[in-house]
Amino acid sequence: MTHALYDSGPDQRGYFGEFGGRFVPEVLVEPLRQLEASMREAFVDEGFWSAFRALLRDYVGRPTPLTEAANLTRMSGGARIVLKREDCNHTGAHKIVNALGQVLLAKRMGKTRLIAETGAGQHGVAVATAGALLNVPVEIFMGTDDMERQSLNVYLMRTLGAQVRPVAGGSRTLKDATNEALRDWAATLATTAYVIGSAVGPHPYPFLVRSFVRVIGDEARAQMLDRYGRLPDHVIACVGGGSNAIGTFAAFIGDASVRLWGVEAGGRGLSVPGGHAASLNGGSVGVLHGARTFVLQSAAGAIAETHSISAGLDYPAVGPEHAHLRDIGRVEYRCVRDEDAQAAFETLARSEGIVPALESAHAIAFARELAGRLSKESIVLVTCSGRGDKDALRFASAAATS
Ligand SMILES: *Cc1c(COP(=O)(O)O)cnc(C)c1O
Repeated sequence: MTHALYDSGPDQRGYFGEFGGRFVPEVLVEPLRQLEASMREAFVDEGFWSAFRALLRDYVGRPTPLTEAANLTRMSGGARIVLKREDCNHTGAHKIVNALGQVLLAKRMGKTRLIAETGAGQHGVAVATAGALLNVPVEIFMGTDDMERQSLNVYLMRTLGAQVRPVAGGSRTLKDATNEALRDWAATLATTAYVIGSAVGPHPYPFLVRSFVRVIGDEARAQMLDRYGRLPDHVIACVGGGSNAIGTFAAFIGDASVRLWGVEAGGRGLSVPGGHAASLNGGSVGVLHGARTFVLQSAAGAIAETHSISAGLDYPAVGPEHAHLRDIGRVEYRCVRDEDAQAAFETLARSEGIVPALESAHAIAFARELAGRLSKESIVLVTCSGRGDKDALRFASAAATS
């Protein structure tokens, strides 16, 4: 029962339709080929998957719950809203799932050092955690502006034993940290694995990441069938680089009866230049970080400024598979603005006793709006990608100084 227009993986050259590929300097082509070959070997080795599944069960605490949000449903006045609780993962979001998968693969390849880029620090903390558990030294590249803004995560990474490498060039944020990590990787290929933080980058990363995080959707699909005896009518997830969303959607793409919705960061509004991070709604086709995809850029191809209240959605591109899924009309992508995400953050906390990450609050806000337009017989499944402790701290200090 596959979607008529959908082919489940990238083609031989790493393309999802017109998107993806491998736009990298010559020096990285062979290492990416090796990574792809090792990935394909690991993926047909039951021992690899059983080690991964054991970590998810005994360390991460999976399967994560499926929680019906009965109070939020009543307030919205329509469809039943059901949450997939990725906030319940160890370390508080879905990112640990991808980090553990990639570190297991790196160890299998004989790598003795891990590097990663991080913006808000969430991916850096996930890799530092996986490195501590699996005994591999970790170095995290981070822009100096981001280090200042995300000092709690810098502290956590160092506590977990990782080295944080400040990047003072360019805009001193994620884009520069990524370039620096890639430069380091090109010089240290023999020993080092580059652990990417979302379903982005050159082939095979988007497919590699999706193969790990699809546990989100696979669990949710089985939990829905078990509890409700049927599939949801609508499935919603927020989209930064797109990993929690593709991990959720992957299980439902073949189900023609299920409508899929990705929610981007609308920031201060799509009409405000530099005021949002909605690559699919406000961007155009280009190349960033090794893949052809939708990018926020000027007419001359310079990467645009972005803004979102949630650091995890504040990225000027999107994973190539999402560009393809939009292209073939299988997934619809909408925007939620800062103020509506902040309102949903507070609403979910008060109505359900769940403080979501601000990223996840974008999906919750759209779910409420959509559910309100649907009948009470419909079911809307929403992935709550993470918990909001990190954001609560920021609101708390703003409240204390205002
Ligand atoms: C990083 C992050 C996101 C955005 O990343 P995706 O790759 O788009 O999933 C969303 N939610 C939370 C809680 C995050 O930490």
